[in-house]
Amino acid sequence: MNKKPLAFLVCPVCHGQLVYQCKQNELICHEDDLAFPIRHRIPVLMEHDARRLTGVSVSANKNKSSRQDHT
Ligand SMILES: [Zn+2]
Repeated sequence: MNKKPLAFLVCPVCHGQLVYQCKQNELICHEDDLAFPIRHRIPVLMEHDARRLTGVSVSANKNKSSRQDHT
C-alpha cells in the first residue's frame, strides 16, 4: 500500500510541484501552464516535450517583425 507520492516530481522550468491529471495522463504545471506527458508510465519532464495549456496560440507563424539588432 505504498502509493508513490508524486511530490518529488517537479517542473523542470520553475521547479514547482506538478499535478497529475489522470484524464490526460499528464503532469500539469500551473505556474507555466505546461502539461508534461507520461509515456510508458514514465513522466517526460522536458520542456520541449510539454504541451502548452494556455489557449493563447503561441503564434504558429511568427510573422511579427521581431527584428532586433544585437549590437
Ligand atoms: Zn513550471
